[in-house]
Parts: sequence; structure tokens; C-alpha cells
Amino acid sequence: MEVKTSLLDNMIGVGDMVLIEPLSEDTFIENLKKRFDHSEIYTYIGSVVISMNPYKSLPIYTAEKVEEYRNRNFYELSPHIYALADEAYRSLRDQDKDQCILITGESGAGKTEASKFVMSYVAAVCGKGQEVNKVKEQLLQSNPVLEAFGNAKTVRNDNSSRFGKYMDIEFDFKGDPLGGVISNYLLEKSRVVKQPRGERNFHIFYQLLSGASDDTLKKLKLDRDFSKYNYLSLDSATVNGLDDAASFRTVRNAMQIVGFMEDEVQSILELVAAVLKLGNIEFKPESRCNGFDESRIKDKNEMCELLGIEQSVLERAFSFRTVEAKMEKVSTSLNVAQAYYARDALAKNLYSRLFSWLVTRINESIKAQTKTHKKVMGVLDIYGFEIFEDNSFEQFIINYCNEKLQQIFIELTLREEQEEYIREFLNENKNGILAMLDEECLRPGTVTDETFLDKLNTVCAEHQHFESRQSKNSKFLTDHSLPHNCFRIQHYAGKVLYRVEGFVDKNNDLLYRDLSQAMYKANHSLIKILFPEGNPAKVNLKRPPTAGFQFRASVGTLMKNLLTKNPNYIRCIKPNDEKAAHIFTDSLVCHQARYLGLMENVRVRRAGYAFRQPYEPCLERYKMLCKQTWPHWKGPLFFLEEKRRQCLGDLATLIQKIYRGWKCRTHFLLLKKSQVVV
Ligand code: ATP
Ligand code: MG
Repeated sequence: MEVKTSLLDNMIGVGDMVLIEPLSEDTFIENLKKRFDHSEIYTYIGSVVISMNPYKSLPIYTAEKVEEYRNRNFYELSPHIYALADEAYRSLRDQDKDQCILITGESGAGKTEASKFVMSYVAAVCGKGQEVNKVKEQLLQSNPVLEAFGNAKTVRNDNSSRFGKYMDIEFDFKGDPLGGVISNYLLEKSRVVKQPRGERNFHIFYQLLSGASDDTLKKLKLDRDFSKYNYLSLDSATVNGLDDAASFRTVRNAMQIVGFMEDEVQSILELVAAVLKLGNIEFKPESRCNGFDESRIKDKNEMCELLGIEQSVLERAFSFRTVEAKMEKVSTSLNVAQAYYARDALAKNLYSRLFSWLVTRINESIKAQTKTHKKVMGVLDIYGFEIFEDNSFEQFIINYCNEKLQQIFIELTLREEQEEYIREFLNENKNGILAMLDEECLRPGTVTDETFLDKLNTVCAEHQHFESRQSKNSKFLTDHSLPHNCFRIQHYAGKVLYRVEGFVDKNNDLLYRDLSQAMYKANHSLIKILFPEGNPAKVNLKRPPTAGFQFRASVGTLMKNLLTKNPNYIRCIKPNDEKAAHIFTDSLVCHQARYLGLMENVRVRRAGYAFRQPYEPCLERYKMLCKQTWPHWKGPLFFLEEKRRQCLGDLATLIQKIYRGWKCRTHFLLLKKSQVVV
């Protein structure tokens, strides 16, 4: 006991929260603060790593540090993300256990940085040789490319990932890297056409305009001046500490290393330029004899030249919409507002399809060249929980994903000790909100956000009635004080009010076929690939799955995949909302610690056992410690149940002696289910 108290009194706090005495929320936060004040940003809860964002660069990611942590046991040195990376890599290499690194935390907490530290650590310690180094370089350089196209400055984070990313790194039996596979999850494409106040569009737009040579810009018919483009918000076009021009060079270089050909890069940049040009298209009304106003493009637009589309083709696609009903094609004209809507829909689709294509293209380059058995380390860096003043479909989707991750965390770490979490309204069953939204989107007749909300309220009210009889807590909160166009959900991280406006539209994610067909007519090979449904030879009348459905399916696959791997957790926390070093806002940290369930995590670790191992490998490992098992060792399965318990009992006494020698708190060893726990 005295050991622990003195540890807390220690200037820099305790490295493992399990050792805090007494444990309370206050001592927990105090410990984090002490450590943060001394730039000790990592703290353990058993094997879970808490990472505080220091908002300054620390000299703790050097080659010397890598050497220090290499091949050392987890608890041997002071807490570090490298210790977790090393542990995961060694169990993958030596015990053939696939690993996943789950990085969670809210926007700006340091997830992406953490994922890069893990990747660069693993790259530094695994394999050598020219071929292997090339694989490593390609894997690492995929980051700047994806960040340029998928990250943006937001109010919370100057480099916020606006997509979810999961990367499997594959290794051979020796632990040398073979390649990787990246999956991306729902890019926040609404950002392409509109950014909230104080935020920017995706980095690549600014990087291209600031960093490309005059010659390149001329070819792309672009102007360096951000203010020339409607899709680029101006109130925060430049960001302190971000050098767009330098980043552009980094991205170009990274694309080359990853294996993009020069003409591919050119095509990609043409599409980026096309999005900017598209945003500048303006429409004017043209009165028709039937009294309707039909939209016309105001001026000649260079986007058509850039993509090799005839202006008349694009113009027609923005003036009319073909509806196919009962084998008949009917053309209806679009008014100016509808044309603007179609323009923005096209820009969002173009950009998000380009992004998905980039991921596919990177995967082609980095995929393993062999079909032999691979050991896999998955790294998940997915958008953190978001509660804004105004929450829409995007936040709902993001929070849905976080909810699923939290479920996995509970399932894998706290499963025995905690009651089962039931997130019935987010679940896959037919009463799930996303399922109801799909049902509504596919229903014939007039479907609006309001009809969806009505449905939600009706079904959930019925459900709640049933629930209250069962005295369970519902996660869908009805309350008469809610604004009329909103619903509220109790997430694990807090209550969130969602505004229903745009849910139906964003879920439908429909692009008028006339526009896909216009794109397909372009004299540009990449655009053709991005709009395959525009091919008149492939008239597929089946509608594509909804955005919600696709997301639900891909998150479902991800969760199944994660459950087959050994999880390693990095829980990121941000110390303040000012993006400032040296500021530690207790209430903010406390809020994050609460919803990440960190206190429960410590309690469970303390009540439970620090070490768990199935008994066969335990006997195998410690056989020589005990006279029943050594020197006459015949394998773990040789012993009958009775005898095995006795051996383990003897082993327990021995191990206890060793632990006492370390002056740790009382340890004991017993058989629990088929595991040995110490
Ligand atoms: P989002 O969900 O918005 O993508 P995130 O959790 O991925 O957020 P990061 O982009 O990793 O957040 O971190 C935000 C910023 O905080 C970084 O750009 C960097 O400036 C700083 N930062 C994070 N971690 C560290 C670290 N370990 N050392 C130094 N700076 C850091
Ligand atoms: Mg990020």
C-alpha cells in the first residue's frame, strides 16, 4: 500500500492508473494533469494506453526511443505508445496472433497522430532490405496522400480527418511487411460545397492553388487566388502553422512513392480543378411559354474544356431531368434552384468518388505480392464522437460508428463484469434508426424529412411504451421541449440532438442519371471510371444502396473483422479546446474520461486480474518452475483435470513468491474458466 501512495505523491504521477490509491475521479484527473504538466502524455490502465494531446512537439519519437522500447516488456519502461506498438508487433510475430490497434477519442484528441506513430514504430522495427523498405515507404506515404484529400481544417482540429480509415498491415511469418489494405468510411462530402464558419474545404484545394507551379495552374486553368472560387470559404483560408505550398510538394512526392504515374496525377489534379470550376457555374432563368422558368448556364465554363465535355451536354443535364416511369422516359425541366442543387450534388459525388478511387488505387500499389499466409495488424483511426450545436446526418453516422466501437470495447474488455449494453435503436434490427430511414426512403409516395421523423416518433413511442413496462432505459429520448424538427438520442458519450433536415436526401444520395451520363460522355478516362452508371450500354434500373445502408454494412464488416483480432487500445484525450500546449481544462478532460469509460476500465482492472492466459501455454511457459512438471514434462494435455489444478496451485505459490519479491500488491493465481489469471 505504501508503495502506491508514494507513487501518487511522485512529481510526475503514476504511470499505471491501476496503482492509484485511493481511486476516485478526482485522483484520476489529478494524475493525468500531473503527468501532462511534465509532458508525460502517456499513462496506462493496465494494457490500455491513454494519450493526452500535448499540442507541442516532444522529443519522444526519436530513433533512440525506438531502440529503447524495442523488444522490451510492456511494463518495463515508462508508458509510451511505442510500448503498445512493440507488444502488438511481437505477439503478432512470435505468437502468430493477428492484432488490431483501436484508436478512439474526440476530434483533435490525437488519433491520427497516434496511428502514424504506431505505423512508423512498426516500420522501424520490422524487417530490412531493399524490397521490404520499399513496402514500408509506400505504406507510410499513403498517409499524406489520403490526408490531403480527406482532411480539412475544422474549428476543433486544423487537420481533422473527415473520413474513417482502417488499415490492415500484412506481414510474413518472419514479421517482415508484405503490404497493406486500406478501407475508408464515408467521407464527409458535404464539405466540398459548403463549410461551416471558421472551417475550410479539404486541404488539397488550397495546396494545389498555393503549391502548384504557374505552368501547372495554367494547364488546369486555375487562378492562385482562393477568393475566385465559390467552394472555398474565405474566412479561414490560411491556417497558422499550415504551409499549403510545402504540403503540396510533400503530397506530390508521396504520390510518386506510392506509385502513381505522372498522367494519373495530372488526371487527379484535373478533377480537383473541375470541382472548383463546377462551383463557379451560375445559372439564370429562361422563361418558357408554359410559364415555367428553365435554368440556363450563365457563362461559358472552363470545366467542360478541362474534362472534355461539350458545354451543350452539360447544359442540358443542368436544365432537364429524365424520369423513367413504366418504361417511359419523361423529361422535366429544372428551375434555377434545382440546377444549383444538381450542381452541388455533382460536385460532392465527383469528389467523393475521386477519393474512393484514390483509396482503391493506393491499395493496388500497396497490396501484398504473395498469397501465402499473412499475419495482420489492423490500425483503426476513425472520426471521434461529435456533438455540435447543429447535428445532422453526418454526425448521426459518425456517432453510430463510435457507438459500435464502444460496444466492441465493452465486449472485449469489460464483458464479464459489466451488464450487457443494449443500443437497441442503433442496432441492425428493423427498429434501428438507419433501418427506418431506409424503409422511408424506399417507400413509394411523398417522402420528406418530416414523414421520417413522424415514423421515428411513432415507432419509438410504441417501443418505449413496451420498454417502460420492462423498466429498461430507452436510448431514444422523447421530450415535449424538443424543437419540432429534431430527435434526441442518449449515446454512451452523452445526449445528442439531431436535426432531421437533410436526412432523407443525404441517405438517398441520388445523382440525376442525366448528370452521370453527361460525365460519362467526357473525353477523360478517369471521369469515365468514376461514373460507370452513365454508360448508356449499362442501363441498370436498380437504385444504388442508400448511404446509410452502405455505411452500416461496412461498419458491420469492420466490427466482425476486429473481433477476430487481439485488440490494443489507445484512448486519446484532448486537454483543452484552444489547441494550446500547457492548458489542462479539468472539466473537459473529465467529460472525455467519463464517456470513454476510463474509470470503469480502471475499476475492472483492479477488481480483476492483470494477467490472463489460457492454462496450456501457461503450463508450457512455467513448466520448469515446479517439480510435478519438471523435468518430466509431457505436454500440457498430459495432466488430468485434478492433477492440472494441483500443478497450477504449486505454480501459483511460486509465482506469488516472485511477485512478492517485486513488492507489488498481493497477487494470486487461480483457474477461471479455462484461463490462468494472476
Ligand atoms: P480528428 O477526429 O478531427 O481527425 P484526431 O484525433 O485525428 O482528430 P489529430 O489530427 O491526430 O487528431 O491531432 C490534432 C493535432 O494535435 C495534430 O495536428 C497535432 O498538431 C497535435 N497532436 C496530436 N498528437 C500529438 C502528439 N503526440 N505530439 C504532438 N502533437 C500532437
Ligand atoms: Mg484524425
